[in-house]
Amino acid sequence: MPADPLRWLDDELAALDAGELRRRRTVREGPQGAGPIGWNGCNLINFSSNDYLGLAASGALHAVLQTIERVGWGSGASPLVTGRGAVHDALEQALARFEGTQATLLFSSGYAANLSTIAALAGKSDAVYLDAKNHASIIDGCRLSGARMEVYPHGDMAFLQRRLARRDDFRRRLIVTDSLFSMDGDFAPLADLAELAERYAAMLMVDEAHATGVFGQSGRGLCEEFGVESGVHIRVGTLSKALGSMGGFVAGSAQLIDWLVNRARSYIFSTAPPEALAAAALEALGVVISEPERRTILRRRAAVLRAGLQDQGWNTALSNSHIVPVVLGDPGRTMALSRVLQDHGLLVPGIRPPAVPHGECLLRISLSYQHSDQDIQRLLDALAEQAGRRLG
Ligand SMILES: *Cc1c(COP(=O)(O)O)cnc(C)c1O
Repeated sequence: MPADPLRWLDDELAALDAGELRRRRTVREGPQGAGPIGWNGCNLINFSSNDYLGLAASGALHAVLQTIERVGWGSGASPLVTGRGAVHDALEQALARFEGTQATLLFSSGYAANLSTIAALAGKSDAVYLDAKNHASIIDGCRLSGARMEVYPHGDMAFLQRRLARRDDFRRRLIVTDSLFSMDGDFAPLADLAELAERYAAMLMVDEAHATGVFGQSGRGLCEEFGVESGVHIRVGTLSKALGSMGGFVAGSAQLIDWLVNRARSYIFSTAPPEALAAAALEALGVVISEPERRTILRRRAAVLRAGLQDQGWNTALSNSHIVPVVLGDPGRTMALSRVLQDHGLLVPGIRPPAVPHGECLLRISLSYQHSDQDIQRLLDALAEQAGRRLG
């Protein structure tokens, strides 16, 4: 018998098991929401979604159904051919008005937007400068571009400055960062990044995936919050998190968008998302604009949670947002605490490598506008019990 060429999978999966690093999937029953949601046969208050404004399950239903009645479901072709419909166009225009940019371009996901935008902006003769904690889609886009990759330690502007000063014989240079880091919930030093980009004539691209709809006076994100929008050349957002739908977008100048239409391969060689998804995002954008109290309330509750956790002695890293990590380090301990919380009716996922570096496992608490003060108190009470056990 010839050897099974897939035998190595058994060994690799067993190794993941041994290190408490194997991921197993569960089916959510019923709608997404702050909870309780049906999960793993239980009803759990949900601290694990990115549906920050509570728009994923409802809100846009009427607009979605109307769109489906009008144009059906599938879009049937690339947006460059016949896949791009009137609702896609309306959403791109609404996003451009919202973001205050000349144009925007819709992608089928935020992942696809990062991947192809970076690869369209930089190539072999170029350099990309990226934060060590950037999202996987940014890292993958940088790899795909073939550009020289200069990774700077998380938030280390002195390191970045030295690297930028070292060489300028690249054809083009691109600095790229998350605005709100997805695991630690902390902010990129956007004002410093904008200053460095200007000083060294580099392009600056900022991914607002977790900040859109939550930060900034108008809800545009942290570039707005810190007043640096004019220094950021390429802004990326997702429709899949606070906007409760599915898709990604890039906002910038008309020339930038034209270039991406011609060069972003995940835009060109992939079918346009259903128009109904764009209709849902349009509705959600309306909520972001007309109900600023959703983000105010979310941010106030997040501050209460962070203060409560810090009082109990947990390490919440540098979180400044509605994403609140409890850093535990070890995967076994992290998954055990996640299971204890589940026994208390609380869904808080443990995050392990490769989503975080080895030794930096954490519980990732993500809050929604829909959580009540009581939900947050329940979580704090459950963790207080464990903090007592840990210290005692
Ligand atoms: C989630 C996320 C993405 C990907 O967005 P999707 O629309 O879910 O594909 C991109 N960047 C960051 C920082 C993210 O957290």
